[in-house]
Amino acid sequence: MKLLILPGDGIGPEIAKATTCVLRAVSEIHTLNLDLHEDTVGHESLARYGITVRPEILEMAKAADGLVLGPTATFDFKDEARGEINPSKFFRKALDLFANIRPSRTYEGHRGPVGDFDLVVVRENTEGFYSDRNMAAGSGEMLVTEDVAISLRRITRRCCRRIAETAFALAAGRRHHVSIVHKANVLKIGDGMFIEECRAVAANYPQVAVEDFIVDAMMAHVVRKPQRFDVVVTTNMFGDILSDLTAELSGSLGLAGSLNSGDRYAMAQASHGSAPDIAGTDKANPFSLILSSAQLLEWHGNRTGKAQFRRAAKAIEAGIEAAVAAGETTRDIGGRLGTAETGEALAARLRAHA
Ligand code: NAD
Repeated sequence: MKLLILPGDGIGPEIAKATTCVLRAVSEIHTLNLDLHEDTVGHESLARYGITVRPEILEMAKAADGLVLGPTATFDFKDEARGEINPSKFFRKALDLFANIRPSRTYEGHRGPVGDFDLVVVRENTEGFYSDRNMAAGSGEMLVTEDVAISLRRITRRCCRRIAETAFALAAGRRHHVSIVHKANVLKIGDGMFIEECRAVAANYPQVAVEDFIVDAMMAHVVRKPQRFDVVVTTNMFGDILSDLTAELSGSLGLAGSLNSGDRYAMAQASHGSAPDIAGTDKANPFSLILSSAQLLEWHGNRTGKAQFRRAAKAIEAGIEAAVAAGETTRDIGGRLGTAETGEALAARLRAHA
């Protein structure tokens, strides 16, 4: 399996290095023959090449079997005309990675503030309120006068349908429950369409129970009793916000793995940002990107029928469970290790239990 690794900004290089260390270990243990190739995006690329994502990176991504993208400093990238392209947006749009799968669960040894839970946020990734990706050309956000801004939200039946199909298929292999999160009381047309499409897909999954929640009330429900949720399907911005909340409720944003996937391509990417407040201090939790990479290995295993990739993904998850229970983690979840040591300890644990 050929993987393109793009470490990104801030804590990106630190967590990408720890992730590479773990990927090398599972490649040996499970005979995955991982071919890891590293390149650059974000600030480093901007300084070196005058652009945050070189066009040839897209060709490299298409030629690979998967992409591992570290967090990037998207807030800094304001003007595409000056080469400041948001790398997340770039790959999600160019590779049509429409499903952002963001699992959140608690671990024995470091329980979050609201008790044990295990849920997955399935977030639409290619339209919605994200003005940099919802237009064929130009931006969906514009300054009409110096004091008037307009931001467009695009919602299409096709995108609602395909994200709903992803969510119901996932729920059918889990605890058979989907929660639709929306704001159809106000966004009656767009979110009304989202609910309609979700309900239409639900009709094909009679074994899966369905509920729906208005997004503001959902925040209270998920804090009050996250255990009641299994798969949560929602539009782009709501999913982005909700999944940071569920990650933090699970113990730390540093546990927030995620996969961006489409029909042909997939990209592992932690849910969080480049964390400039702790960049370069060896404090960042690498489990987010390691768990994201495990999701990517599983995706590849499912796609190719190669069971060793699914086994490797399961081994990483089990290894992280055991590492958290043993306190072999970074400080955000109660351990005493640095980022690099956490990756090395996990790799050693996986080798010892192979
Ligand atoms: P952030 O997600 O980077 O950080 C929020 C908080 O969580 C910080 O206190 C940070 O230290 C902590 N945190 C994040 N990841 C952690 C980890 N692995 N281990 C331990 N603690 C962790 O949010 P921000 O500070 O608002 O954003 C910083 C930059 O990242 C901005 O430029 C933003 O646009 C960008 N961003 C990028 C992505 C992405 O690349 N997918 C996502 C969100 C934000």
